[in-house]
Amino acid sequence: MSAPARTHKGYRGRFAPSPTGPLHFGSLVSALASWLDARAHGGAWLVRVEDIDGPRTVPGAAEDILATLERFGFQADEPPEWQSRRVSLYRAALDQLIAAGHVYPCGCTRKEIADSQLYAHRRNTTLIYPGTCRNGLHGKTARAWRLRVPDDAPAQAANNPALIRFDDRWQGPQQQDLATEVGDFVLLRADGQWAYQLAVVVDDAAQGITHVVRGADLLDSTARQIWLQQCLAVPTPAYLHVPVVMNEEGEKLSKQTGALALDATRPLEALLAAARHLGLALREPAPATLEAFQADAIDAWKRRLAQLQATA
Ligand code: GLU
Repeated sequence: MSAPARTHKGYRGRFAPSPTGPLHFGSLVSALASWLDARAHGGAWLVRVEDIDGPRTVPGAAEDILATLERFGFQADEPPEWQSRRVSLYRAALDQLIAAGHVYPCGCTRKEIADSQLYAHRRNTTLIYPGTCRNGLHGKTARAWRLRVPDDAPAQAANNPALIRFDDRWQGPQQQDLATEVGDFVLLRADGQWAYQLAVVVDDAAQGITHVVRGADLLDSTARQIWLQQCLAVPTPAYLHVPVVMNEEGEKLSKQTGALALDATRPLEALLAAARHLGLALREPAPATLEAFQADAIDAWKRRLAQLQATA
């Protein structure tokens, strides 16, 4: 793999939509925030189509998203990458983890995991895997590959290797105990699908991404990604998670919760609403063209970041 070009003072950001439907307002907010942050830093902004989850990918949705981004004035600095074309990179990363002993084959079914006594602990909808196959398959057939997370250190220990900390540029200091809150997690699923966590870490590293800007629904995945970066010996980017857009029922806006596709004939209106969601103070009267919006929004984003820093 050749090293990605380090242009634009080294900053490389990205927007990584999953093509499960057309671009909706929630994903527009993530696109706008990642684009503004890249431009505010004089950096490069890339688009990566996360079409690795075959069963969830809707035919035509990726092309539709890319066309909408263009209509909305988002110009990527490199041609888009497609995860479905990068499977050999995920395979190579898994092989590296196998060779280093970081992963193990797991033969447990979802039902066995859910039935396990040790498994009473539920967090959101994620089951904490009790480590049944950590030391061998016990006659079961390998179904998935799991990454070992560190064991919790005794309470009196100075350092707990399972505790991952990071400073989110929007949300502030974060921490997650991988041993008690996550457990050994799957990188290659029983159905042969590569897990998002592996693909995103491999791609961010291979594309030389220095700054990840995305929705706060992924805040909970970040500690897992940092641990995986450490296991693969690749750099950890800076993270910024913007507030999630909710619908009237208080659910994250997504295709499943009834998010409507954006009206691509009226980009400015949706962009102004996305800027408002990000708390950007734009000039009055509101900019009347996409170009004026972009220039104004970049300045407003810089002021918003300064404000977040001042209140940290
Ligand atoms: N593909 C993910 C999504 O659409 C985003 C992944 C990321 O930004 O890390 O939710």
